[in-house]
Amino acid sequence: NTFGEIDLGPALNANIQRCKYVKPTPVQKHAIPISLAGRDLMACAQTGSGKTAAFCFPIIAGLIHNSMRGRPRGGRKAFPLALILSPTRELSCQIHDEAKKFAYQTGIRVVVAYGGAPVHHQLRELERGVDILVATPGRLSDLLERARLSLSMVRYLALDEADRMLDMGFEPQIRRIVEQMDMPPVGERQTMLFSATFPKEIQVILESHFMIYDM
Ligand code: AMP
Repeated sequence: NTFGEIDLGPALNANIQRCKYVKPTPVQKHAIPISLAGRDLMACAQTGSGKTAAFCFPIIAGLIHNSMRGRPRGGRKAFPLALILSPTRELSCQIHDEAKKFAYQTGIRVVVAYGGAPVHHQLRELERGVDILVATPGRLSDLLERARLSLSMVRYLALDEADRMLDMGFEPQIRRIVEQMDMPPVGERQTMLFSATFPKEIQVILESHFMIYDM
């Protein structure tokens, strides 16, 4: 019933304390151990449930654990190790702000990319190097089309508010994004999907693209 009981490592635990989180919320308590064990996950969670930390903590713990050395970092083409997809600019910025706090002093770089804003600043940020990319599906597709981004090294994929992304018509983009990822052998990429509801479309996407161990 405390974060100390979940083995997130000293750096992340220090940041959790800095955020003044004392007890995991129910979704954190149930989802984090499953993700830490390396299993795929889909969870039913509303706004305000603490779902941002539920997918950020395992990603950050995993990136710290599997040292990030020895890969292209910075340069014209960005190679994130983790991708968090969210439906809107507001939500992406919120996730980015929280993820930066959780990743404080870990050396992990978090970058956000969303539509409705000039792309140049986001491209410069990506060029400086990115470990975790938080993005809306539309802007992410744009960056992929410009060949400024490769998803071939993504080891963690989180889809936040998946039902809302589908309601907003992002299904073709999400499909293309997932297809663009080199499919590493089972076990090398982990997927986390969070949604308030589970309509049939989500199940179809999951069945055709994701490796599911746990439902
Ligand atoms: P979310 O559902 O991720 O948008 O989180 C809702 C709010 O709860 C955010 O302001 C978080 O910073 C906060 N929060 C998340 N997890 C915890 C926790 N374990 N203890 C206290 N506050 C939390």
